[in-house]
Amino acid sequence: MSGLLSIIAVCCVLVFAYANNRPHDYSDYSIRITSLDKNERLNTPNLLRRVVGSKLLRVVGERNFASSEEGVVIRARNERTVEQIKERLLNEGLNEYYKVEETFKTSPDYQRYINKVNTGDTTYHNYTQLYTFLTEMNNLYPNMTEIFTIGQSVEQRNLYGIRINTQNRSQVVFSDQVNAPIPKPKVKYIGNIHGDETVGREILIHFIRDILMQYQTNGRIQKLLDSIDLYIVPSINPDGFELAQRENKNDVDMNRNFPDFITGDSEVVQPEVKAIKNWLSENTFVLSVSFHGGAVVVNYPLDGLPNGQNYNAYNEEAKTSEDNFFVQLSKSYAKAHSSMSESTEFHQGITNGAAWYPLYGGMQDYNYFYENCPEFTIELSDTKRPPAADLLGYYDENKEALVVFLENSYKAIGGLVMEHPSLDLVQVPCNITFETNDVTVHSSGSWNYTLPLKQRDNGFYYKLLLPASYNLTLSCEGMMKKTHNNIAVKALDDKPIVKNWVVSRTKM
Ligand SMILES: [Zn+2]
Repeated sequence: MSGLLSIIAVCCVLVFAYANNRPHDYSDYSIRITSLDKNERLNTPNLLRRVVGSKLLRVVGERNFASSEEGVVIRARNERTVEQIKERLLNEGLNEYYKVEETFKTSPDYQRYINKVNTGDTTYHNYTQLYTFLTEMNNLYPNMTEIFTIGQSVEQRNLYGIRINTQNRSQVVFSDQVNAPIPKPKVKYIGNIHGDETVGREILIHFIRDILMQYQTNGRIQKLLDSIDLYIVPSINPDGFELAQRENKNDVDMNRNFPDFITGDSEVVQPEVKAIKNWLSENTFVLSVSFHGGAVVVNYPLDGLPNGQNYNAYNEEAKTSEDNFFVQLSKSYAKAHSSMSESTEFHQGITNGAAWYPLYGGMQDYNYFYENCPEFTIELSDTKRPPAADLLGYYDENKEALVVFLENSYKAIGGLVMEHPSLDLVQVPCNITFETNDVTVHSSGSWNYTLPLKQRDNGFYYKLLLPASYNLTLSCEGMMKKTHNNIAVKALDDKPIVKNWVVSRTKM
C-alpha cells in the first residue's frame, strides 16, 4: 500500500516538475489582432480591452496580452486558445472588424497545425468551425484568398465565403489594345441553401482545401485559379444547418423566396435572400452552381413553366434560348462525377428543372433572368444529411467534376469596351449581341443572345459559349454601333477569345 502511495507521490512530483519546466516563451505561437475599420476610430487595444479584454485576459492571462498602436498581440498557449479567442470575437460580433493573424509559423506547433489542416477531418463543420476553417485557409494562403461575408442570417450568423483569386493571370487574357490584363471572370459555388442538405457544404470545404494546397504543384489547378476569380460560399443558410432543417430560422424555404420572372415577387423577402440579391447586384458572375441533396443529378434552367403551373403532368421542359449550352454543361459535370451519368432515374444524370418538378422563386431562375448568370442546381446525395463518415466519399465522387465544371469557363468570348480616342473603359450601359447559325447551338439554325453590360462591369464583358462561329454586335448608349464577325470558339479551346472594342460617340 505504502509502496503504491510513494509511486503516486513520485509521479506527482515528476508531473509538477515537467509542468514547471515547460518553456514559458510562447512568442512564436501568438496571434495579432488589428482593426480593419479605421474610420470608426476603433482604437483596437482599448476597444478590445473594454469589450472583450476581461474575457480575453481570463483566457490568456494578463501577462500574455500586449497592446500597441498596431493592435494587440496575444501569446497563445496552444491551438485551442487561439480557437477560443476567435470564438469570443465571433460571439461578441467583433470578428468582422478585426483581422486575426496567427504568427506562429516558425514553431514546431506550426507543422502539427499544417498536418491537421492537410489531412482534413471527416466531421461536419458547424458555424464556428466553418469560420475557423476559412480563417485557417486565409492564414495559410493570404495572397490567394480573402474571406468575405455577403450578409447575415435571421439569427445574425454571417454568410461567410472565401474568394480565391491568385495574383497571377493566365497570359491569354491580356487585352490587345490596352496595356493591361482583362479582369478574370467571376464564378461561384454556393452550398447549403437548404439547411438540411449538408453534403454540398462539406464537399466545398474539402474542395477549398484541396485546390489551395494543390495550386503550387498541380498545373491544371494553377491554370484554373489563374484564369477565374472564384467565390465559394459553403453555406447560405447557416441557421437552417444548425437547426437541421430545410428552411431558414423563419421557416421559409429560401429557394422559393426570390423574385420570379413568371410569378413575380415573393411575400416577405428573407434577410439571407436579400443579402444574396445585393451581392449579385454588385458582382457579375458568369457561371454558378448551387449544391443540394436528396437526389443525384444536375438540374438546369428553367425551373418554372411559362404558364406558372405547379404540376407538370407530361414532364414538359421549360427551355431557355440557350438550352443546348445548359445541356452540355450539365453533362460535363455528370460525366466527370463517379456515377451520376449512369443514373437510372435521370437520363445521363441531368434534367431540365421544370421537367422534373416546376418551382417558382428559386435562386437558379433568378440568377438567369435577373443577373444573366447561368446557374445550375446540383444534387449530390440521395440522403440529405448522411453520416459524417461518408462525407469524404462524397467528396471523392465529385472531386473531378468540381474542377471540370469550372473549366467550362475557358470557352468564352470576352474583353474590354473602350471609348475612342481616350481608351477609357466605357461607363454607359451597352448591349452585346452574339449570333450564330450553327445548329449545334440551336437546332433551328438561328440563335442570338443579348448580354447587357452594366456600369458595375467597368467595360468588361465575358460570355460563355458553345463551340461555333459568332457575329457580335455592340451598341452602347450614345455611341456608334460596331460589329465583329466570324469569331470562332473551338471545341478544344482552353482559353477565352479576347475581343476588345473601341467605340466612338455619335455626332450630336
Ligand atoms: Zn435542396
